[in-house]
Amino acid sequence: MTIVTPESTTVKRPRKPTALFLPELVFFEPNALNYPKGEKIMEWVKANDIPYRMTTSHNRIMNFPGETEVEQYKIAKRTLVVGLRKTLKFDPSKPSADYAIPIATGCMGHCHYCYLQTTLGAKPYIRVYVNTGEIIDAAKKYIEERSPEITTFEAACTSDPVGLEHITGSLAELITFMAKEPLGRLRFVTKYQHVEPLLALEHNGHTRVRFSVNADYVIKNFEPATSRFEERIEAAGKVARAGYPLGFIIAPIIWYDGWQEGYAELLAKLAQTLPPEVGKGLTFEMIQHRFTKTAKTVIEKRYPKSKLEMDMEKRKKKWGRWGQNKYVYPDEQQTALREFITERIFEHFPEAGIDYFT
Ligand code: SF4
Repeated sequence: MTIVTPESTTVKRPRKPTALFLPELVFFEPNALNYPKGEKIMEWVKANDIPYRMTTSHNRIMNFPGETEVEQYKIAKRTLVVGLRKTLKFDPSKPSADYAIPIATGCMGHCHYCYLQTTLGAKPYIRVYVNTGEIIDAAKKYIEERSPEITTFEAACTSDPVGLEHITGSLAELITFMAKEPLGRLRFVTKYQHVEPLLALEHNGHTRVRFSVNADYVIKNFEPATSRFEERIEAAGKVARAGYPLGFIIAPIIWYDGWQEGYAELLAKLAQTLPPEVGKGLTFEMIQHRFTKTAKTVIEKRYPKSKLEMDMEKRKKKWGRWGQNKYVYPDEQQTALREFITERIFEHFPEAGIDYFT
C-alpha cells in the first residue's frame, strides 16, 4: 500500500509573473503638465489611485518617510518624479554606444551592485522626462553632426526604461523615430520582461534590444525586484520574433565558488530556451564586476546582508573615467572569465558576435 503523505500531494503552484511597476507616490514638476506626456501620466496616476503632489523641482524632494536611511532609500525607489530634462547635451556612452540618450534616471530594481547607487547619491528616486520631443530633436542634431558615420544611442545608461514603458511610452517614441533615421541606431538593455508595448512597432532593425542575464547565483543573490531569468528569456524570444536585433549583456560577471558551472549553465539554458532563429546577428557584451570605494560604503549600508564580495585586497585598481579608482578582477582572473565564457558562447551560438569584454 502506498501511504500518501501531505508532502507528496503538494502541488507546486506556478509563480506569479513579475508585476508592472506601480509607484507609491508621484511628484509632478508644474511644467510637466504642459506636455501631452505629462498629462497622460497624470491621468494614469489618477486612474491607479496613486497619491501625487506638485513640486517646483525634483531637487526639493527630500524628507522621505521612514525611520532609517535604509527605509527612506526603499521608499525613494518607489517614488516617481515627472519632470523635464533640462540638459540636452548627451554624455558619451562607451563602449556600448556613442551617446547616452536620457529618457529616465533611476530604477525600481534593487541590484546590489548597481552603479546608480553612487551616481544618483542621495536622489535614488525615479525621474521620467516628458519633453521627449526636445530630446529627439537633440538626437537628430548629433546624428547630423556625425554624418556620414552611424550614431548609436544607449537609452539605458541611467535607468531600466523597459520597466517604465507602461508609464511613459518613451521607448516607443525613440524606436519609431530611429526607424526612419538611416544613420541613427538605438539600443537599450533591460532586466524586465514587459516588452509587449514594443512588439508591434515599426523599428526597421535600427534598435537592438538586449537583456541582462547572469548565472543563477548572481540573479538570486544580487538582483531583487527585477524579472526572473525565465521571464527575461521569454521576452527575448518575443523581441526576436518581432524582428528586433537581439543581444545579451552578461553583467556583472562575478567570480564565486562554482562560477564555471554557473556561467556554463547560463549559456546552455539560453541555447535551450531561445527560438533557433535568434542565433544569427545575436550579440553578447561582457562586463566584469567592479566597484569604487564609495560604492562599497553605500552598498554595505543599504544591503548589509549582501554576499557581494568587495575586497579591495583581492582586486586590481583601475583608474576610472569619473576620477575615482575602480576595483576590477586581477588580470589572471579576468582572462579566465573572459576565455571561459567566450568559449561557452561560441559553443552554443557559433554565429553570434562578441562586442566587448570590459
Ligand atoms: S535593473 Fe539595472 S538599473 Fe535597475 S537597479 Fe538593477 S542594475 Fe540598476
